[in-house]
Amino acid sequence: MALSTDTAAPTPMMAQYLTLKAQAQDCLLFYRMGDFFELFFDDAKMAAATLDIALTSRGEHGGAPIPMCGVPVHSAEGYLARLIKGGHRVAIAEQTETPAQAKARGGKTLVARAIVRYVTAGTLTEETLLDSRRDNMLVALAQVGGDVSSEIGIAAADISTGRFETMTCPIGDLPAELARLRPSETVVAEGSSLGVADGHPFDRAAFSSARADEALKRLFGVATLDGFGQFGRAELAAMGGLIAYLDHAGKGTLPFLAPPLRKTSGGHVAIDAATRESLEIVATMAGARAGSLLGAIDRTVTGAGARLLGQDLSAPLMDLATIEARLGLVQLFHDDATLRDQMRGALRTLPDIGRALGRVAVGRGSPRDLGQLRDGLGEARLLRERLGRIAEPPLLLARILPALDGHGALVDALARALVPAPPTETASGGYIADGYDPALDELRRMAGDGRRAIAALEAKYRAQTGISALKIRHNGVLGYHVEVPARAADTLMAPDSGFTHRQTLAGVVRFNSIDLHEEAGRVAQAGAHALVAEAAHLEELIAAVLDRKADIARAAEALARLDVAASLAERAVEGGWQRPHFVVEDGAGPCLDIVGGRHPVVEDALRREGQPFVANDCRLSESDRLWLVTGPNMGGKSTFLRQNALIVILAQAGGYVPAQSATLTLVDRLFSRVGASDNLAKGRSTFMVEMVETAAILSQATERSFVILDEVGRGTSTYDGLALAWAVVEAVHEVNRCRCLFATHYHELTRLAETLPSLSLHHVRAREWKGDLVLLHELAQGPADRSYGLAVARLAGLPQPVLKRAKDVLARLEAGKAKTGGIAAGLDDLPLFAAAAVQEEAAPDPLLTAIDAIDADALSPRAALDHIYRLKQLAAERRSD
Ligand code: ATP
Repeated sequence: MALSTDTAAPTPMMAQYLTLKAQAQDCLLFYRMGDFFELFFDDAKMAAATLDIALTSRGEHGGAPIPMCGVPVHSAEGYLARLIKGGHRVAIAEQTETPAQAKARGGKTLVARAIVRYVTAGTLTEETLLDSRRDNMLVALAQVGGDVSSEIGIAAADISTGRFETMTCPIGDLPAELARLRPSETVVAEGSSLGVADGHPFDRAAFSSARADEALKRLFGVATLDGFGQFGRAELAAMGGLIAYLDHAGKGTLPFLAPPLRKTSGGHVAIDAATRESLEIVATMAGARAGSLLGAIDRTVTGAGARLLGQDLSAPLMDLATIEARLGLVQLFHDDATLRDQMRGALRTLPDIGRALGRVAVGRGSPRDLGQLRDGLGEARLLRERLGRIAEPPLLLARILPALDGHGALVDALARALVPAPPTETASGGYIADGYDPALDELRRMAGDGRRAIAALEAKYRAQTGISALKIRHNGVLGYHVEVPARAADTLMAPDSGFTHRQTLAGVVRFNSIDLHEEAGRVAQAGAHALVAEAAHLEELIAAVLDRKADIARAAEALARLDVAASLAERAVEGGWQRPHFVVEDGAGPCLDIVGGRHPVVEDALRREGQPFVANDCRLSESDRLWLVTGPNMGGKSTFLRQNALIVILAQAGGYVPAQSATLTLVDRLFSRVGASDNLAKGRSTFMVEMVETAAILSQATERSFVILDEVGRGTSTYDGLALAWAVVEAVHEVNRCRCLFATHYHELTRLAETLPSLSLHHVRAREWKGDLVLLHELAQGPADRSYGLAVARLAGLPQPVLKRAKDVLARLEAGKAKTGGIAAGLDDLPLFAAAAVQEEAAPDPLLTAIDAIDADALSPRAALDHIYRLKQLAAERRSD
């Protein structure tokens, strides 16, 4: 095909390409040419780099060679996956007519092509392109008005399952909401001032609340949206943008979307992006699932369950009734091991019906997807029966069970229609079961008879020609044909042999015959008719599924909820976790009373090394709201702080908690700050980040909030840091009045206990034993007696001379405290380090001297023993030095 021209006018094909590329804008254009998708110009360069495939060129455009690369159509999915991961979006341009049709149109023979779909990170449905255990959210953001005070509308959908939610929030909360949703793709109106990382612009007109209202009513077939809730203008505009973008990406095929669930901003615990990151709720700071809270507690056995558990942990609830309902279901599975095992066993075999439905809804459903729906919904029916026998079902069970009802007719229809393991591909048929359609059975019988007749012909021709190597074969070009070795071909070449020559290859010659031609025609015709009949049945079945799509989505959700509850129960049993006990504030004020609490991730890590985890209490009440925790490095302060925040998250997500008991009032906001964490990637100094984040806490934490502050203030000079930490503790105590754990190395802060009545002192215990530091990881009342910094440094293997030197400096610093002239006053007359270090090396080592002095050949056993005692003592002295 001519792509090049030496004149200024592009060839017809280039003109067509450029038109499509103009539509595709900044998406890479996959241009279908026969069995390949080809990419040209910059698209080719980018794709070749991302995919690590050869970049070639083809023809010329404007006098320069056109860069080109291509991927085979049959393996395009894998390449698409890598391009999407690499941050690209792709427009697929298919041939929309055959070359024969193009010819029939007359004139030019260039086949028509059109963009049939955009493949973007947020609009995927393919099993191979998605992570089965993670939601794939597409988010649209809209702002009405546009000044800083106006609300932001958020619309978020996972089109692979139909999950659809909306909310509004102040612009300041947007980062927190995005951190909760973890979108794969974000769209904003063109020209919008909402600067969101990775967000890309889309048609401004689509983000209109009036247009959205119409689009939503059409989508859900309702006269008014009131039944879904009262949407604000910003929310509607965001939904409008989302739906228009989906319409654009699917080129008019809208995916399945459940009715939008309206989240209210007070509906879940407010957790900002920095807190999520620092608590490693669903991913570690490095982005991995393993090592996060989710990774440590997830015992779900289905992808849908894993996705729902991630959602639950990302948005702990503020509604006590819903929390208790979830806990009730967990308790059912916790208390009944047999039921739990049966449930999990059944769920384990369950296909992902939510995602199968998602594919069917966007027109990419395969017979295999229908098979998954048949098996999943069929299993749901059995589960329904089993769970229906429970005498006094917990509230949540009673509420979700009906969602598993009513799929019987569809399951039966699919079961009758489909073969047991239907294929993904439809091209060669064979997915509709025998006995479902007598006409189809008849066509298959005819095709089968034909194939048998052809086999009989082969035997007949062998006998007739005497060529035992004669075979009847089939290929895509010749269809059925007779094949003989070249040396035996003469017999068949004879004019009256009844065979017509078709092809001569190196070793074989191929022929046709009238009988074979007739039989082959019968087989082909019956086969083609059978394919058409199967396709028609597939279409009917898909229509039947889509008829019930909302019900199927509800069943998928119910199954996921059961999986989550059973998973939380399983984890609780494994770890001896307990059901949290929520109390309503009654004058006594908020409380957070955890006895024997543990950190699920650290405990797991220690267990793998055969180490025990030391449980600790955290008993905050109105009169004892703020705990100041001191103690040595590595003593377990951070672990203690975090474990209590994680217990709050687990409890309010409706799960059991790693503690002997937990008595809690609801927490409205959760904050976690770690002093001077490494945040260089964001281009601010660590101390700056620390202060910005601390400012957010001081302005937002309420009496019902829970705050953990880990060494805040350490990122600057000692005095400044201490002064800031001091002021922050006072403000938290006096103004915010939230429950707070504050870990610090500033021993001076413990003096605050004298003036702040609701502050108490605690420390992680440590002991020095024969010169070695023993960290007990156990929390105790009161301040730490000393800091043990040097002992920890020794544990870490700091060289002896440096340790010795630090010891000298410390002694002088402590002596200098009494004098005026600042912290370093005592250092004025300290000799230089180099001198001290040399001195250190120059001094004879008593241990070595003692060893050298031993005359090994002249020793009696008694004297040898004495020497050993002496050497051991020297070694002990050295250690405690
Ligand atoms: P630093 O002041 O240096 O930040 P830290 O006091 O915050 O130290 P952590 O980071 O909490 O100390 O804990 C250090 C290590 O001690 C953990 O990685 C863990 O191996 C162990 N550890 C902490 N808490 C416990 C515990 N309760 N039981 C057993 N081991 C623990």
